[in-house]
Amino acid sequence: MKLNFCSLSSGSSGNCYYLGNEFHGILIDAGISATSIRKFLKDIDISMQTIMGVLITHNHIDHIRGLEVLTRKKSLPAFTTHKIWKSILTPYKRISQDCIREIPLQKKFHLAGFDIEAFPVCHDAPETIGFHICAGEKKITIATDLGHICQTAAPYIKAANLLIIESNYDEKMLVNGKYPQYLKARIQSDHGHLGNHQTSAFLADIISDNLSNICLAHLSKNNNTPEIVLKTLQQTFSERGIILNGQQQISILNRNMPTDMIRLIE
Ligand SMILES: [Zn+2]
Ligand SMILES: [Zn+2]
Repeated sequence: MKLNFCSLSSGSSGNCYYLGNEFHGILIDAGISATSIRKFLKDIDISMQTIMGVLITHNHIDHIRGLEVLTRKKSLPAFTTHKIWKSILTPYKRISQDCIREIPLQKKFHLAGFDIEAFPVCHDAPETIGFHICAGEKKITIATDLGHICQTAAPYIKAANLLIIESNYDEKMLVNGKYPQYLKARIQSDHGHLGNHQTSAFLADIISDNLSNICLAHLSKNNNTPEIVLKTLQQTFSERGIILNGQQQISILNRNMPTDMIRLIE
């Protein structure tokens, strides 16, 4: 069976990812407007009618901006943990009650032909999760907002064939940039975001032939560029003597528009 992944938008301004097969699809996060989601899906030839649900990682606005409209106007079921729902529903009261689906942590559930497991990550929200999604033999992991890779999250990330992982900021740009000190400290903390060197070093530790696609995600608008992300990764791999096998693909996800579709066979 064919498996398609597309990042519709990735970064601190809004996150939304599509994963689907020939029949159905799901979204991961809804951090851009529902109108943009529908438009971007149309741009990549996907009908909104085929979307069976949206998985939500946490309550920050860059992950839930379009959620209210998706549930109210599209009746799209939305899946996240009890604790994250609580943190979303307090300020966002207009989310359709009929669309609320609570999921457990680290226990598989089934949606649109996928076996999905949510795992906890360290980030400065009441609770934040990543998703490990199995489609036949293929495993996809999404971990986009995390200050460090904790022992619970690491196995889910290591098991992926297609990995979407944050590479949020260039350490030098952040330190020398205009952000106030408290914000710099927050971003760099264990509950903030992953910097380019952190992500590159982790990828150098786990890279194997099983990891066929790496998508570097959630780039900061002010403290990063796609060129620096790629250069940091290439430098780290070169220092560690890592040579990609020719089949492995590295993508830097666009901040405000869909990135090329990644096509896998289950
Ligand atoms: Zn975010
Ligand atoms: Zn966040």
